Amino acid sequence: MTRRVTIFGSTGSIGCNTVDLICRDPDAYDVVALTGGRNIAKLAEQARALGAEIAVTSEESLLGELSEALAGSGIEVAAGRAALVEAADRPADWTMSAIVGAAGLEPGLRALSHGATLALANKESLVTAGALLMGTAEEHGATVLPVDSEHSAVFQALVGEDMGAVERIVITASGGAFRDWPVEDLARATLAEASSHPNWDMGQRITIDSASLFNKAMELIETHEFFGLAPDRIEAIIHPESLVHALVGFNDGALMAHVGPPDMRHAIGYALHWPERRDLPVERLDLAKIGQLTFRAPDEARYPALGLARWVMEEGGLAGAVFTAAKESALDGFIAGRIGFLDMAAVVADVIEKMSGDGLGKAAITLDTVAEADQMAREHAVRAMDRRQA
Ligand code: NAD
Ligand code: MG
Repeated sequence: MTRRVTIFGSTGSIGCNTVDLICRDPDAYDVVALTGGRNIAKLAEQARALGAEIAVTSEESLLGELSEALAGSGIEVAAGRAALVEAADRPADWTMSAIVGAAGLEPGLRALSHGATLALANKESLVTAGALLMGTAEEHGATVLPVDSEHSAVFQALVGEDMGAVERIVITASGGAFRDWPVEDLARATLAEASSHPNWDMGQRITIDSASLFNKAMELIETHEFFGLAPDRIEAIIHPESLVHALVGFNDGALMAHVGPPDMRHAIGYALHWPERRDLPVERLDLAKIGQLTFRAPDEARYPALGLARWVMEEGGLAGAVFTAAKESALDGFIAGRIGFLDMAAVVADVIEKMSGDGLGKAAITLDTVAEADQMAREHAVRAMDRRQA
């Protein structure tokens, strides 16, 4: 039986890896919707290759370009934010959420409201509005499957286990591009240096977030939201080889580790075939050749993002929305050359300090309250960046 699949963010790094897996077995899938942003050529190429029903770009101004690129194909086209969210109304058996940033929340929620099985790569939606996302899934009998490699690893280690027996979850961090740099050099790190990852090949934004450990900070919060474990039972550890993705510690002292090559097609493929395991085109590890695996505690002075994540987990409510928006805004500032590498964490800390007295933790999480907190956090972040530049 063919499965109907939709991919939000198909033109990105996770999206292309998902398309790669689907292309290997085209008869098994009917592709419903593919969505992208500015890369119309890629979106059109994918839509033709997979015979999608509809291709949607988030950029309203690019509708003409998309129509032209798909002329004669019989594939429907649409553009703009509303059209993108509406793509989730088309029935699908499996939906990939791989838009980057807070923009991924709404399409994911819409898919869940139809009882979808949602493969969730868009970590920002869990960090921003975890309770809303997981609550919507529960309300509609929908399933959320983690695609972030660490969370897929934890999910796999938990198969057949009782959450009551889980003592702790440890997620690993490569340490990013600057793990061996002297701390005093970090302030001068350039955009090009921050955009290359030692082990993983990913989109630019998540690669920079890996260098600052903002990515790991988001993943700590994701772990808390997805698995419901108390913040003091969730740890991050530096593991430069990126081969152990996560470990689950049980009440009998056992640690179950997930070990595999750094290839996102594993986590994507696991979610695609779940609850089964199928052959995947990923490297098989040669442990004797690898020889050793190393671990060290993260230095919180080097990585202030980790401390900020602890605040978000303790605070709850809209703290995650504020954190995500401030981080995205600071990241935009770094990419645009407005602020330095270390300023990103300082800007997020500033925003948190300004907004933490506002009863964030007790606020209800709805699309409206999230949008409001998001906008306020971005405004504070811009002011914090202006102060730093002045
Ligand atoms: P990417 O930048 O390579 O791709 C992002 C996709 O989202 C593209 O298709 C782009 O067109 C689309 N997009 C961007 N802004 C949009 C907007 N405002 N509205 C609609 N669409 C928009 O990103 P990526 O590396 O593939 O990451 C996607 C998500 O998966 C992120 O949340 C990231 O944190 C997460 N993730 C990525 C990896 C990885 O290996 N790349 C690993 C784990 C988790
Ligand atoms: Mg990850």
